[in-house]
Order: sequence, then C-alpha cells, then structure tokens
Amino acid sequence: MPRSGWSDRFARIGEIDVQDPQTWESRLFLTIDLDWAIDPAIELCLDMLDDAGVAATLFVTHDTPLLARIRSNRRLELGVHPNFNRLLDGEAGSGSAEAVMHELQRLVPEARAVRSHSMTQSSRLLDLFVRCGMTHDCNHFVPVQSGITLKPYAHWKRALTRVPYCWEDDIDLEYGAGPSPLDIATAGTGLRVFDFHPIHLALNTVSIEHYETTRSAHRTGEALREAAAPGPGGVRDRFAALLQGRMSS
Ligand SMILES: [Zn+2]
Repeated sequence: MPRSGWSDRFARIGEIDVQDPQTWESRLFLTIDLDWAIDPAIELCLDMLDDAGVAATLFVTHDTPLLARIRSNRRLELGVHPNFNRLLDGEAGSGSAEAVMHELQRLVPEARAVRSHSMTQSSRLLDLFVRCGMTHDCNHFVPVQSGITLKPYAHWKRALTRVPYCWEDDIDLEYGAGPSPLDIATAGTGLRVFDFHPIHLALNTVSIEHYETTRSAHRTGEALREAAAPGPGGVRDRFAALLQGRMSS
C-alpha cells in the first residue's frame, strides 16, 4: 500500500512555473526516457505508473502503439527525446537538428517538454527548441551527489523554462552507493526530478555490468524477464519504492 496522499505529490514537467514555487517546491517529477525500448518494457513501466496513480512525463524516441495508451491517461505527459548523436558522429544522411526535431514532432505534436538523448544541448539547440514550441527543457543534469539544491529557471529568451534534474538510473549505478530516489523524495529539498529508462525497469538493473552483459536479451519480453535481477536494490525496486513512498515489504 502506498503512503496516504503520496501519489498527489507527483506532477508533470509542463506544470512547472518559475514564478510559482508551489508548482514544484514540494512536488516530485518522474521522467522516463523511452530510448527505443521494446513495448513489453514500456508496458511494464506504464503498468507501474497506472497502478500507483502518479503523474509522469515520458520523453518519446520512436513510434509505438503505446503512445495511444499514454495519451489515454491524463496524469501522463508526452515530451520528445531527440537524438542528435548521428549528426555529431558525422553519419551520412543524418539530416539536420531541425529535421530530427520535426520527425519527433510529427509523432508527438502536443509535446512541450524536451530532453535530448545523451543530454545534448547548446544555445543553438535551445533556440531550436523554442522555435519548435517547446516550453520546458530538461537537459541539465546536476547529480544529487553535488549537494546543490536545484530550482527551475528561465532561459534568457524567457520562452523556455529550464528544469535541471538530480537523479538518473544508469548514472546512479555509475556513482554507486548514492541516495535512493525514495531518500531524495522524503529527505531532499528543492526541485526533485528523477529520470528512469524502461529497459532498466524491465531488467531491474543492479549494475552497469548486468546491463552490458544482457544486451542480447534486451529485444524480447521473454528474454528480458529471464535476464531481470530478482532484487532487492535494482532500478525497478527503487522505482517501486519511490512510487509507493516507502520500501516494499
Ligand atoms: Zn536517452
């Protein structure tokens, strides 16, 4: 059972208003980068979000029939997760940053929030996001390990709210032994935005090595279930504890 009233603390990135601290100060923000995960992994994530009745923002990388399911849940918000890496790698025929954005906007025309894959950002990309109608940018990662208390802030052109985030599943595994999302949610202060990936929820990833050595299992639901760690202490266990507001028994 979740803590009473716990699910009401979660909000969507698009609700953050720099001028109104009530929109973020005591709130919790779940963000999910889809990262081309297979549908069974995304479904597991959506089932957990639905069961907990919490708000979240999902950053989309690709088309999937599950976009309709996400749209049918009013607590969920769709954003875009553009991948500019092919441009940076000089891959032939990879187009332009604008084309990358427009391709995703065709899939998710309602998106107003953006986080780039690999957090790619620059002043030119931020200008592009504004031209594409984005109102909230989530590219700035300031790890909770820094001890810095976070706030949203206005981009100098005012049209864009910058929403830094403090915790990401795979980076937490790289750091090791950091505070859990539940610890941050219950004891932390300031803006608290968490970033999870469906693949790490499905695998219940316990280490980077666990993720890397199971790569061949990441493309089917059955193989993923077999490769998943039993827990406790995996990414899914930590996600579940955050959703419930307590450690699961
Ligand atoms: Zn990504």
